[in-house]
Amino acid sequence: MNMEISNNLDEIGKTLPPGVKLIAVSKHKPVECIEEAYQFGQRVFGESIVKDLVSKYEALPKDIEWHMIGHLQTNKVKSIVPFVSLIHAVDSLKLLQVIHREASEAGRVVPCLLQFRIAEEETKYGLSEQEAVALLESEEYGKMDYIRIAGVMGIATNTPDDRQIREEFRNLHRIFKFLKDKYFAGNPAFKELSIGMSGDYLIAVEEGSTMVRIGSSIFGERDYAVKI
Ligand SMILES: *Cc1c(COP(=O)(O)O)cnc(C)c1O
Repeated sequence: MNMEISNNLDEIGKTLPPGVKLIAVSKHKPVECIEEAYQFGQRVFGESIVKDLVSKYEALPKDIEWHMIGHLQTNKVKSIVPFVSLIHAVDSLKLLQVIHREASEAGRVVPCLLQFRIAEEETKYGLSEQEAVALLESEEYGKMDYIRIAGVMGIATNTPDDRQIREEFRNLHRIFKFLKDKYFAGNPAFKELSIGMSGDYLIAVEEGSTMVRIGSSIFGERDYAVKI
């Protein structure tokens, strides 16, 4: 067994305050790596490809909490709805409608985060503040009994400029507070601020992260060419 993973989890764990949940991002890594992390005690894993998420769910112990952290296509929703613990990247009303339809068929309330576009980079994914307001005020959203919006998620610009990263996280924290006050007052379910990856999670924690999504600092660099 490669002790590296346990050591990394141990080191990272020491830097996280009690209220911050560690999502071990195991995308593009084989089940053996997840098993080592599991034996160390890690129970929360994140994947970004639906097919891998489903096959790993099937292969591994059932007390694992699986988070879908990547962009989700509507035609892939059905296969994860029965077991997924949290969908991090909801970025349209249309996607939320499909999740709701599948969730109601499965008879299961599915927790979701709204993904915001906070980076300077031109990324395709993520809501603007205005789009989120429109979504939350829509008649369709008002009827979704099988969706629980648990908070927000964002990815900062990939830059060595820590000040910029901090500003982007701070902006998302502001959006989080605004939405909480306006749409989720008195609703304890809306509580998650999913920010922070291997390169920037310490800044994210300082800016109020409740969930960090860490991959390469736990499992090593990813080799996208390797088939798992
Ligand atoms: C891959 C990924 C991560 C983890 O990235 P690392 O830099 O390896 O920690 C976190 N969040 C999302 C959305 C990802 O796709």
